[in-house]
Amino acid sequence: MHDVDRVTLPVLDERRARQSGAPSGFTTPADPLRDRFERSIRYLRVSVTDRCNFACTYCVPDDGVAHKRKAELCTFEELERIVGVFAGLGVRRLRLTGGEPTVRADFVDLVARLRRVPGIEEVVITTNGHLLAALAGPLVAAGLAGANVSIDTLDPARFAALTSGGDLARVIAGIDAARAAGLEVKLNAVALAGVNDAELAALCEFAWERGLVMRFIEHMPLSSGSLYEATRELSAAAIRKTIARAFGALEPSTVDRGIAGPARYWRLAARPERELGIISAMTEHFCAACNRVRLTADGQLHACLGHDDAVNLRDVVRGGGSDDDLRRAIAWSVQGKREGHEFQRTGDGAPTKHMIAMGG
Ligand code: SAM
Ligand code: SF4
Repeated sequence: MHDVDRVTLPVLDERRARQSGAPSGFTTPADPLRDRFERSIRYLRVSVTDRCNFACTYCVPDDGVAHKRKAELCTFEELERIVGVFAGLGVRRLRLTGGEPTVRADFVDLVARLRRVPGIEEVVITTNGHLLAALAGPLVAAGLAGANVSIDTLDPARFAALTSGGDLARVIAGIDAARAAGLEVKLNAVALAGVNDAELAALCEFAWERGLVMRFIEHMPLSSGSLYEATRELSAAAIRKTIARAFGALEPSTVDRGIAGPARYWRLAARPERELGIISAMTEHFCAACNRVRLTADGQLHACLGHDDAVNLRDVVRGGGSDDDLRRAIAWSVQGKREGHEFQRTGDGAPTKHMIAMGG
């Protein structure tokens, strides 16, 4: 396990005390989306609901989560307004997530509306795929460009257990419908020791048979209150080793994927068209190149998945704030973006939020 990057700058205590907007002494910098570590935010992830039709064991705590009331969620108009301000600052790409984004009422309409926000050039989703067979066509018509679909196992019983009742066949139908409708599809699996570690090669083959890329996500100990125990987890290195044992040597992919995301891509040396991605937030983390911020369904802007710090943009809007006020609040959040996550830390300062509310 690598040493966790420790935050060296002072914690912005005032941020915790004041959850909405920026303090009076704060001046919006020339580039509100550039942080203290010279990272430029290019990408906004928007959770459109904290509800889900699955309850994956690694995402939802055993005792469940308290859902936000409808009145607490950003309305479509509020989301358009906030996204519009981000677009004005240079964000071109949106990822809609959840919970499960497709369970938000009138989700297709929301996609169409956000796609029309001036400056936004691409809207994509991350989904469990359960409703995708029916929605893929309408979503493409609404302007959706791509879908990352979660599929952790190819064993129907294991899938149902892991997701608390999910239907694997239905998700596979969703993946195939999304491809047929013309969406750019990527597959995601959380790599879980003792659960799907014997299936990594089969998951790659499932993707390759469809001309897709399988991406393995290192399990993050979010909201579990425990330290990341390297010996009990599947590391990026272990994933690569397993795939290389099954298919031969791996080499880095040379495909240019546009705005860099957290995944590092590899290909089979013997079959370069066969690629896979690994999202390693833990053992080979990418904090130094992080280019994203996250908006929760109730309007909290989180500059880092691995900290609880948040600035509530919905409250700025509901409080009658101007676009300038929103820009200041966004800049304040971005200036507070920590150098690195603190997933390995317990106690005060460790993140307590749940993945289902954050959207991955
Ligand atoms: N419901 C959608 C889905 O499952 O794709 C979108 C929301 S989900 C929170 C987004 C991503 O986060 C999924 O790929 C999911 O597998 C991943 N995820 C959830 N909990 C995780 C955890 N503890 N560690 C790593 N990835 C996690
Ligand atoms: Fe729902 Fe996605 Fe979390 Fe699973 S990973 S419980 S599908 S939000």
